[in-house]
Amino acid sequence: MTGTTYDAVVVGAGPNGLVAANRLLDAGWSVLLLEAQPDVGGAVRSDRDLHPDFVHDTFSAFYPLAASSPTIRSFDLEDHGLSWRHAPSVLGHPFPDGSWAVLHHDREATAAGLEAHCAGDGEAWLDLCAQWDRVGPHLIGALLTPFPPVRHGVGVLAALRHVGGLGFVKTLLTPVSELGRQRFGGEAARVLLAGNAAHADIPLDAPGSSLLGMLLAMMGQTVGFPVPEGGAGELTQALARRFRARGGEIRTGAEVTRIDVERGRATGVRTADGERYAARRAVVADVLAPTLYTRLLDAAEVPDRVTRALRTFELDPGTVKVDWALDGGVPWTGAPDLAPGTVHVADSVADMSQAMSQVQSGAVPAAPFMLTGQMTTSDPSRSPAGTESFWAYAHVPQRASSDAGDGGVRGTWDRDDCERFADRMQARLERAAPGFGDRVLARRVLGPHEMEARDANLVGGALNGGTAQLHQQLVFRPVPGLGRAETPVRGLYLGSASAHPGGGVHGACGDNAARAAIARDRVERVIPGRGRGLLGR
Ligand SMILES: Cc1cc2nc3c(=O)[nH]c(=O)nc-3n(C[C@H](O)[C@H](O)[C@H](O)COP(=O)(O)OP(=O)(O)OC[C@H]3O[C@@H](n4cnc5c(N)ncnc54)[C@H](O)[C@@H]3O)c2cc1C
Repeated sequence: MTGTTYDAVVVGAGPNGLVAANRLLDAGWSVLLLEAQPDVGGAVRSDRDLHPDFVHDTFSAFYPLAASSPTIRSFDLEDHGLSWRHAPSVLGHPFPDGSWAVLHHDREATAAGLEAHCAGDGEAWLDLCAQWDRVGPHLIGALLTPFPPVRHGVGVLAALRHVGGLGFVKTLLTPVSELGRQRFGGEAARVLLAGNAAHADIPLDAPGSSLLGMLLAMMGQTVGFPVPEGGAGELTQALARRFRARGGEIRTGAEVTRIDVERGRATGVRTADGERYAARRAVVADVLAPTLYTRLLDAAEVPDRVTRALRTFELDPGTVKVDWALDGGVPWTGAPDLAPGTVHVADSVADMSQAMSQVQSGAVPAAPFMLTGQMTTSDPSRSPAGTESFWAYAHVPQRASSDAGDGGVRGTWDRDDCERFADRMQARLERAAPGFGDRVLARRVLGPHEMEARDANLVGGALNGGTAQLHQQLVFRPVPGLGRAETPVRGLYLGSASAHPGGGVHGACGDNAARAAIARDRVERVIPGRGRGLLGR
């Protein structure tokens, strides 16, 4: 056992752990970052495992949230080797008749395309953009800072006066499927909003879906959906390079199995290989909330009310992700002149809704709604000229009770299940892009088990650290009463996507945790013992 002592130990080097570690280091603390996997990055990594000439993003791929995040921007990652790249257009959605809805960087171009689908929808789109312009930046600020968002909350209230006050609040709360019907005559604008809302697991007919749909669609027209040059992993590698360059220490292959607590305070961690690392001031956990409270902490350290509340903690659905190395571009029917980086595949909003409700009700979807990424189109360095590094993922139930398709997928997600479901996804692509299968050089299927093996936070393939639905957001995240990074154990902070504001690569969960640790430490230094029991039993 070693006796090394740091000011802070951060558990898990996903984007949130890396952000927390950088923030603590910038405050002058000595920081050790421990990561279970052989490399840093969590769900922001890339690899060449499928084909040596192709870079594939192992999990996440597009980063509008990172590009909008004041936290990520504050680290000047361009000085540490990060370069952003953009596809010619942001996002496309093909329809069965070969026409497309396209989100462009330029809102006028988006509106012109929507107008061509349905007269009046161009102007309606620009109206929505103008309303968002007033409120959006304050809303983003409010979402990406600790709850309650006092400063940005005031900004939101002031801005609302200019866009119809409570009427616009109602717009934000209206389910996205209904908002699409109210504001637009054609399906093209509706799928752009609903497809973006479907990046999380909020049902399209539930409140909260419009906010997410608008947030991502509008970000597409401000910061775009950028990708790091060279692969997703370059984003987290840049965070790691910055951290190391300033004296931070990273140990990979170091799975934390226990957080030590003495007299109600976190004092260090133990790893699977028997090492102990002491933390003088804080431990920040970039791990899933149930892992923190039920595996890393001794049961005696967790208040009964938290243990009880965790029984109702809801994961988001599982995921099956398929990567392809293609010897040519995706042969989409009617492909737009300006190729999109992200492509959503569903026939309509109703079709998307049906797939999502099958997943919610425990059925493997018959016609999965797919998010796909044309990565070489977005960043030519990903594969040789004329080829495409391509992926698609679809959600599946955490516990499947039936198959809404041909009955061939049992929901055990063994190799056979994964390949059959990948065949279902590929058949859907083949319909939208005839000849797709002929271009496949190699294919890799990552099911829920493979994802979890590569990142313990992706339990059952859940990619957002817990459901993003309203009942587990804000003060209810991860459980009611623990809506901030502080935990009932002094000196221990939850900094993963299980904390507010949840999934996505924005770094806010890690930043909130680091800032909470720094603030509490200051108080304790001035008034020793202060802060004790703030969230106690
Ligand atoms: C398939 C997929 C696609 C996605 N697409 C996007 C996208 O395009 N854009 C976007 O913004 N977001 C996307 N997301 C979501 C986003 O990647 C996550 O919300 C984000 O990575 C969460 O960051 P995190 O640091 O909280 O956790 P993670 O990124 O999951 O990192 C957690 C880290 O902690 C480590 N760890 C866990 N337990 C321990 C332990 N006991 N000891 C030591 N280390 C431990 C893990 O190995 C991992 O490295 C996607 C996610 C997935 C899975």
